[in-house]
Amino acid sequence: MGDKTFCFSVDVDWVRGSEVALPALYDLCDELGIRGTFFSVGGFASEYGELLAEAVRRGHEVGSHGWEHGLRNYENYGSSPYADQLRWLELTTGAVEKATGVRPHSFRAPNLWVGETTLRVLETLGYTHDSSVPARRYDAGMGQLGHQTRYFRAPRDPYHPSREHLAVPGDSPVVEVPPSAFVVPMNMSGLRAFGLRPLRWANRRIRARADTLVFYVHPAEFVSAEAQALKADIPRRHRRGIGPQNVELLRRYLSDVLSLGYTPVRVDQTAPGGRTSAAPARAAQPRAARGRAG
Ligand SMILES: [Zn+2]
Repeated sequence: MGDKTFCFSVDVDWVRGSEVALPALYDLCDELGIRGTFFSVGGFASEYGELLAEAVRRGHEVGSHGWEHGLRNYENYGSSPYADQLRWLELTTGAVEKATGVRPHSFRAPNLWVGETTLRVLETLGYTHDSSVPARRYDAGMGQLGHQTRYFRAPRDPYHPSREHLAVPGDSPVVEVPPSAFVVPMNMSGLRAFGLRPLRWANRRIRARADTLVFYVHPAEFVSAEAQALKADIPRRHRRGIGPQNVELLRRYLSDVLSLGYTPVRVDQTAPGGRTSAAPARAAQPRAARGRAG
């Protein structure tokens, strides 16, 4: 086992309220010295380009996360034909590039619905990294992850996938960086549902088995439901326990991860076998009180 790297990632869906929470997440990252990856939906990038440009100014990577995901739910990268996926991702890539001035080269599929066809599209558009394969997700097979159980055995650390089967190492130039899980998924939804202690327990299990930890949040989880005007068909679990108080919960979780000796990196800085040589654009200096979290 080599250096331990930590990818903090944010899935910016096209959900009202996301724009309110992003600045608070930027500030938290600055405070903790974290440079992460913000995967933005193209529609959001078209509407709030300046906010995403701010992420780049602060040293973060802005990747892509589909075209209208969050607002509408037709985009299924696990089952849609090549031509549809290519069109959605061309639109998204253009919108993110227009917003930030930087062409995105990392992708995360909406709902982690991804397939071999998606890999072909990413290669065509020059993407270098994908972070969508739900390795070790026990919740695959129910709810939103649907049919993705076929990727359960995928590697935990970054790898080049096979074009025939995403969960098998192969010779695609794209680097797959699976979101982490150990019994519980490592995301804000898991943190809200189970609390800090189970997530800390899972972190330590993952640390013993992998060099890379990938955690993700959604900005809307840090905004009260009233401020979001959530659609009635959104599952109850997505409404429960959301609000600005989660910034403090996230601060405590992230402080714990950093105390385990993880080095924060952006998704585009990961590589099979360890971190790439590229240093963060601006070296992050932890600011203020890291010890503030207990
Ligand atoms: Zn999403």
